[in-house]
Amino acid sequence: MALTGIQIFKLLPKTNCKECGEPTCLAFAMKLATQKVALSACPYVSEETKAQLAEATAPPIEVVTIGVGDRACKIGGETVMYRHEKRFENQPGFAVVISDNMAAAEVDGRLERFAQLRYERVGFTLKPQLVAVKCESGNASRFVETVSKVQQNIDGSLILMSPDTEILAAALKVCGDQKPLLYAVTKDNIDQMLVLVKEYPCPVAVKASGLEELSQLTQRLIDAGIKNIVLDSGARTMRQAFEDQVVIRGTALNKKFRALGFPTIVFPCEMTDNPMKEAVIAAVFVAKYGGIIVLSDFQGHSLFPLFVERMNIYTDPQRPLATTEGIYEIGKPDKNSPVLITSNFSLTYFIVSGEISTSKVDSYLLVKDTEGLSVVTAWAAGKLNADSMAAFVKKCGIGDMVSRHRLVIPGYVAAESGELDEQLPDWEILIGPKEGSGIPSYLKTLTS
Ligand code: SF4
Repeated sequence: MALTGIQIFKLLPKTNCKECGEPTCLAFAMKLATQKVALSACPYVSEETKAQLAEATAPPIEVVTIGVGDRACKIGGETVMYRHEKRFENQPGFAVVISDNMAAAEVDGRLERFAQLRYERVGFTLKPQLVAVKCESGNASRFVETVSKVQQNIDGSLILMSPDTEILAAALKVCGDQKPLLYAVTKDNIDQMLVLVKEYPCPVAVKASGLEELSQLTQRLIDAGIKNIVLDSGARTMRQAFEDQVVIRGTALNKKFRALGFPTIVFPCEMTDNPMKEAVIAAVFVAKYGGIIVLSDFQGHSLFPLFVERMNIYTDPQRPLATTEGIYEIGKPDKNSPVLITSNFSLTYFIVSGEISTSKVDSYLLVKDTEGLSVVTAWAAGKLNADSMAAFVKKCGIGDMVSRHRLVIPGYVAAESGELDEQLPDWEILIGPKEGSGIPSYLKTLTS
């Protein structure tokens, strides 16, 4: 049973020390009750109290991990309906279907695309995480053969799809240690599935015809001590599936209904035969509120936009993407290389470092912590002015790394050059271009 803010407050130290970032213990308790802060933010809560608060602080939607180690796909853990309220926590995983009835060439093609369709964007690797191996043959050995092949060839996690627990058990003998998602518990096989999950403690998906049946099935699993559950309401039209996603999220968050407090799995691949419509449907569930999104196949032209959408929606809207402050070597700079300085807004960093690479002028790039603000915003906020840039240049040690002290500042902060001249008398302050696109031609002027 969830606790109210006042009930939580009674369990806190009540010192109002502010170390959690809140002005009082009461304010912290109120936010904790609505999952807006983590209990770990207060360092003074005793182990006993932590245990008491466990339920109150657990996310209303359980975190479920599919797979193990670096390949694992973590979903759920959401605490809000809308990302502007706080942020969305765990990105949905994209899965591709591979049937054990497919020809070998088709399976190979999908595995190849799974491996190849990955993209670097602003410091993140965007890639698919899951393969859903579907038993359509009804033949356990054939299914196991396909599962083994997929397992050996993917850098990702598995979903095993069969209503037959004997077939699932056969596959689990070869991949049970990889903790695949078992799809699916239904009203017809729940007793056998409970036995199977006891032997192989893997996450399980529950498939039902509607939300009432779904919550009855999940409640049985919860009563049996199973918490790694993924929900499939059974809807196979976009409209119904969309409604179900919203109701599941809302019921779990607002009514604290534990039987629906789990991430979901959705099947755009079973809602249309048109690949373009399938991508559009998938895009809807990236926003609202798919945990795993299963596609019939991966193609770069549809997968990449889905990746970018996912990245944008799961970025914390209250915190700009930021690069770590420091000295970055672009190319192989030496003692004669120029030194540029910029803000730590990730987009700025990747544009500037990319343009320096394009110039083929080996350089040092100083990335100053501006709390993720872009150059102009940081300058206006006093986080990229002469004082802060000079202090950073002095403390970061770049002065010992170059013999010719040339510091190129962004054109947008040219007004700081006079003050910088005074604060860094050993440095020649140069005013670089305003836009990143001007960097290659500018840097070439420094080498001529
Ligand atoms: Fe209270 Fe703990 Fe926050 Fe200090 S850190 S104000 S004790 S909740």
